[in-house]
Amino acid sequence: MKRLLKGARVVDPANGVDGRFDVLIDGERVARVAAEVPAAERAGAETLELKPEWIVCPGFIDMHVHLREPGQEHKETVATGTAAAVAGGFTAVACMPNTDPVNDNASVTKFIVERAAGAAARVYPIGAVTKKSAGEQLAEIADLRAAGCVALSDDGRPVSNALILRRALEYARMFDLAVIDHCEDPALKGEGVAHEGFVASVLGLRGIPAAAEEVMVYRDVALAEMTGGRVHIAHLSTRGALRVVREARARGIRVTCEVTPHHFTLTDERLNAPLSYDTNLKMNPPLREAADRDALVAGIADGTVDAIATDHAPHHYDEKHVEFDRAPFGIVGLETAVSLALDRLVQPGVIPVARLVELMSVNPARILRVPGGTLAPGAPADVTVLAPDVETTVDPGRFRSLSRNTPFAGWTLKGSVAATIVGGRVAYANTELLGLAGR
Ligand SMILES: [Zn+2]
Ligand SMILES: [Zn+2]
Repeated sequence: MKRLLKGARVVDPANGVDGRFDVLIDGERVARVAAEVPAAERAGAETLELKPEWIVCPGFIDMHVHLREPGQEHKETVATGTAAAVAGGFTAVACMPNTDPVNDNASVTKFIVERAAGAAARVYPIGAVTKKSAGEQLAEIADLRAAGCVALSDDGRPVSNALILRRALEYARMFDLAVIDHCEDPALKGEGVAHEGFVASVLGLRGIPAAAEEVMVYRDVALAEMTGGRVHIAHLSTRGALRVVREARARGIRVTCEVTPHHFTLTDERLNAPLSYDTNLKMNPPLREAADRDALVAGIADGTVDAIATDHAPHHYDEKHVEFDRAPFGIVGLETAVSLALDRLVQPGVIPVARLVELMSVNPARILRVPGGTLAPGAPADVTVLAPDVETTVDPGRFRSLSRNTPFAGWTLKGSVAATIVGGRVAYANTELLGLAGR
């Protein structure tokens, strides 16, 4: 079937497109982007009338998501996680391997791929670097690749052994896979639960110093330079780590990085608010200082940061509803990321919409070497429709995710998702905006 997205602003930086155009979708693919699609071509197409303030762009890809299946289906499943993804404007997610069992072999990868077959969004599994992500023996990287893994990571923990990471980068390079590293020095992090600084001292919380992240980023850059492999720094959170990436890239080293919405929005001062010890402010890496947050925003604007990724980490209420020290790290992010980015980055003019599309679509597709990031004719019809003019209030009670662990409950943000189209199918429509219930 054909579908015509009519009357909005199309922002497609990969093709240098930014203006008022109609987009014709034929079946699962983009057929044409034109100011006026010829009547013969659009005959029989179902038309989605959009507002001129709205933005049609290539589908957003969240390259850092924890879907929890297999093993922790009470937190999230492939079905609920992808339902949350499309409600949040993502047409695809890459899922981290720290499931139970760990995605360190082709049978687990195949299980995830099968689960994803009927899911709302596309799912790209990330395979483990080492068996059980234990950091000792390399996983079967060729098998993981053949089964459908698009990158390698032991996320949840770093690849601590530098020799293992060297070997992983050498193998991954043969398959053109990025190795995504959760950068923290385990000894320096110790039993820390919050950013090491003034706020943690006042609250009596054990600190995680910025250097715990930075020493690993230095090491990873050195190994990327040595091997020629591609390192991607997950959830980069400190100004020092950003500086290392900036300098490395200037020297031509193949290193990329992502920043989460919570790290470009919040600081550790939140912990010292009346709702202090809120475990929905406990994540790893921790919320850093204002100077770090400001540096990340600058890096997002100047191009040093490649991607915005959520590190969507669902946890059950009972697991989070304990003392700060005992609570698991992590928050959900799929259903708040786009509104936070529109409200905090685009509305104040920190970045133009085209840059947002690079951060959330073009670059994740490029780093993972997956389809997407473009509305060129013949490309998969994965489309995110943004309504930057529409305010939304974060209501965890309405999340599609099985988990509710967000620090943004009750926040009113300017910028909403109007619709999410995956392979030509309307996977999510904001019914208040579009009146498309049941499609
Ligand atoms: Zn991590
Ligand atoms: Zn993670």
